[in-house]
Amino acid sequence: MKKGKLMGIITKVITGMLLVFTLVTSCFTARVYAREDIPQYKLQESSIVYKENSKRILLDMAHHDTKLDNGCSYGEYNEREIANKITLQVKQLLEAEGIEVTLTRGEDDVISIAQRIVMANSADYDYYISIHINSSDTKNKGTGVEAWSNNAWSLSRKVLKELENEFDYKYRGIFESKFYNRRIDDKSTILEIGFLNNKYDRNNLVNHQDRYAQAIARGIIEQLKGE
Ligand SMILES: [Zn+2]
Repeated sequence: MKKGKLMGIITKVITGMLLVFTLVTSCFTARVYAREDIPQYKLQESSIVYKENSKRILLDMAHHDTKLDNGCSYGEYNEREIANKITLQVKQLLEAEGIEVTLTRGEDDVISIAQRIVMANSADYDYYISIHINSSDTKNKGTGVEAWSNNAWSLSRKVLKELENEFDYKYRGIFESKFYNRRIDDKSTILEIGFLNNKYDRNNLVNHQDRYAQAIARGIIEQLKGE
């Protein structure tokens, strides 16, 4: 074969290869751009990023630390059932915001206080939050909201503030916890969200659990956003 003919073939092969390369590259680039234009793709990406920075909450389903423990009661109502319903709603609202929520127990399970402490201390949570309902010695004597904090002052304050605004509740205070959550390594709080034997509080606790859950979740999210 003559040298000129060989060069001609080589040139054609190289040109062909370059053309194929250009086509493949442009298709690939076009695909990448097209995919980035789909909002769903962006959402998936951003939710993955959020997940990596996600906050972890251990949400306590209060009471039932013995089979007979329902907390306080008034007439047909008991603390455990109402507080647990609100807690489950709070869980859903937090999860919808990408916050990782673990419950201390299933709705009907019985778990001791000691087991809750072990559970809280066996993993790294940002907060342990336990939602309770108060009761006073005489009916209609106590009203409003309070918290028993273990290094969770800011979160407790934000949640109580939301409840005060939502129901025009009296702020009773945030106290250094004297209860079991003192033995939890993570920041923790026991929220007392109203009095079961107070007519005004009870009406809210029984009939406005959705508003309760929204207010509590708002307070928690506001705290987590600022961290
Ligand atoms: Zn309680």
